[in-house]
Amino acid sequence: MKPDTEIRIAGIVRESIVDGPGFRFTIFTQGCPHGCEGCHNPQTHDFNGGQVTTIGRLIEEISKTGLLRGVTFSGGEPFCQSKPLAELATEIHAKGLDVISYTGYTYEQLINGANDENGWLDLLNNIDYLIDGRFVLAKKSLLIKYRGSTNQRIIDVKKSLSTNTIVEFEL
Ligand code: SF4
Repeated sequence: MKPDTEIRIAGIVRESIVDGPGFRFTIFTQGCPHGCEGCHNPQTHDFNGGQVTTIGRLIEEISKTGLLRGVTFSGGEPFCQSKPLAELATEIHAKGLDVISYTGYTYEQLINGANDENGWLDLLNNIDYLIDGRFVLAKKSLLIKYRGSTNQRIIDVKKSLSTNTIVEFEL
């Protein structure tokens, strides 16, 4: 790990119970290109907003938080900072925690659009579950766990990558 690697974040929540199973340390990344109508986090859209921190500092904060099952990357759009988040995910796994990432892209868009520059595959290769797709106001539902609208899926990334299909998962 390069502890000085920078990540721009909007904020953190230490013990979230709404961003995946168990107690989770949630990192809200800063910057989002999707502009979904009805977005709950419009303050995370500006790519120059939020604050810059480092992987080392985030790992310290995660280590100080007890009883965690895992860490969730939310946003903002985590895949706009795939490379530093992939490094961070490796360190989180080394602590025995799982990693979930939200994204406004679909899994198919990430697979088909991945390249060396955006690092989308780096991040996909280092997370356990992906909650994908934009928030669609017309499909908003309060009945589905961890998601805002019914178009969004929970994807088992490791199984999906290894089988070259999309394996959905109910967390
Ligand atoms: S992807 Fe998420 S943060 Fe970005 S506009 Fe849509 S709901 Fe908001």
